[in-house]
Amino acid sequence: MAEVKDETREFMKTESGRRLTQIMTDDYLNLHQKAAEGAFVVWVAIIVPVELFYGFDNVVFAAPESHAALSAAKGVGMLQCEKAEHNGYSMDICSYARIDIGTAMSGGKDSPTFGLPRPHLLVSDNNNCSLLAKWFDIYHREWGVPHFILDVPFCYEMQKETDLKYIVAQFRDLIRTVETLSGQKFNIDRAKEAMRNSSAAAKHYKRFIDCAVNRPSGITAFDSFVQMAPLLTSRGRPEVIEHFKKLADETEERIKNGQFPVPNEKYRLLWDSIAPWHQLRKMSSRLAALDANIIAASYTSCVGSIEGSYEFVQEYMDGDPLVLLARIQNFSVCPYGLELRFNAMSWAAHHYGIDGFVFASNRSCKVYSVMQMDIQKRITEELGIPSTMIDVDHADVRKYNEENAFLRIEALLESIDTGRIHVKI
Ligand code: SF4
Repeated sequence: MAEVKDETREFMKTESGRRLTQIMTDDYLNLHQKAAEGAFVVWVAIIVPVELFYGFDNVVFAAPESHAALSAAKGVGMLQCEKAEHNGYSMDICSYARIDIGTAMSGGKDSPTFGLPRPHLLVSDNNNCSLLAKWFDIYHREWGVPHFILDVPFCYEMQKETDLKYIVAQFRDLIRTVETLSGQKFNIDRAKEAMRNSSAAAKHYKRFIDCAVNRPSGITAFDSFVQMAPLLTSRGRPEVIEHFKKLADETEERIKNGQFPVPNEKYRLLWDSIAPWHQLRKMSSRLAALDANIIAASYTSCVGSIEGSYEFVQEYMDGDPLVLLARIQNFSVCPYGLELRFNAMSWAAHHYGIDGFVFASNRSCKVYSVMQMDIQKRITEELGIPSTMIDVDHADVRKYNEENAFLRIEALLESIDTGRIHVKI
């Protein structure tokens, strides 16, 4: 068997890394245990409003995308992809889907979490991509599990009131569906509590990723890639608030003490794509050796932010949680047009003081990559910020070439230097 490289190892050595490991371990153990004891299990796409499931006595949820990301970071992504490919699934399909299909087909074998417990309901959406609905449909066909698809209208401008109402109506349908299938009654107050927990956790997470505003940056985007996991799999739980509060406090404290991940930071870069899960350690250390830091990423604001910015939506206090949950369905990355994505990138360029952009053209995630050349052109022409485009796949290492990628990244650093010389002249 090929050597398994755990790309998260370095990131887990810190106090917050150890706490994160504990949260994730407890979460997956809890999921398996509750499922074995008879809980109603829902598999969700990551943007599905999981806070609603806390409104039921005994409903648990799992996010196959997050499990696939974890598998890739733990070095078993390719192995699981190959299992799906041997069963006829094309290499061109998103690697998250292939990892998940490979894991499910082998009964959780080789998975860092022993796979996921079989679902009673699948809930996907079309706000990141239509592939997700097709992917979940495989289990609908193979296992006969009901599949609920949330239809989120694509937006070219700020979300319309009619679209918001349309999404809220579907959330109500989803609640009724879970009530019917699980035989449990929905309690809105418990969902509100989960919503308050998610919202408070997001506030501290934002404080953490904003440590990138400092010069030198207090974090790398690779830290935030790893740390965002509970936001996807465990949001709604009170422990997650505590974790992100401590994480933000510890990071701010390190900044005060003059401790930085790239102390001689010369280049502040922004990453546009999903994390390269199989390269976290390698890419961050190779960049640090060049005094370069990818300090921020469009991906790390993919839950809870609003269109046209990477800012998180206002804190939830009270009122109908379904409305706020609908408001964040058109999140900052995929499901909207060029203008909004460009606005979000420009906002980030100014907010973080970005010297250069790394557009990671992702072989799996066409929806994320399709507009990148147009955005790159506008970043160059309207913001005058240099950029490069590299080829990656977020979870399939076979579609990434480190030397080619670094050839382009090093050329980007040179063009940043050239620009600085011109400004001085
Ligand atoms: S194609 Fe992109 S948006 Fe769709 S499931 Fe894969 S990573 Fe997610």
